[in-house]
Amino acid sequence: MQMLNSINNIILAPHFNLSEFACPCCRRVMLHPKLLGKLVELRNVLERPVYITSGYRCPGYNQKIGGVPNSYHCIGLAADIKVGDINLIELLEICENIDFSGIGFYEKKNFLHLDVRPTKRSRWRE
Ligand SMILES: [Zn+2]
Repeated sequence: MQMLNSINNIILAPHFNLSEFACPCCRRVMLHPKLLGKLVELRNVLERPVYITSGYRCPGYNQKIGGVPNSYHCIGLAADIKVGDINLIELLEICENIDFSGIGFYEKKNFLHLDVRPTKRSRWRE
């Protein structure tokens, strides 16, 4: 059905569409405005595309891909991102300046996990 192809096709900010944050299995989506705000800030600093490789995850999908139980992805507070032509350490430093409360560093797969958890700051690497 044609209508379904446009579900979540909503521009949130100049470089972000809600569909980018939707769960790949069911298209359900949750996105906290604070997370979006920080991603917009990151996009503005970088002046290049920020690819959302994993945004919202429904609990079933999170389990299927081996995400931690109670992942911040399941409540719209986390996104995994990739950015081209930048060293991951350099990207990490920029994200530190933007002050995401959770940052996971995944060197082998070349992505960062970013979140806006309300509890104390957390940093980890794969
Ligand atoms: Zn799903």
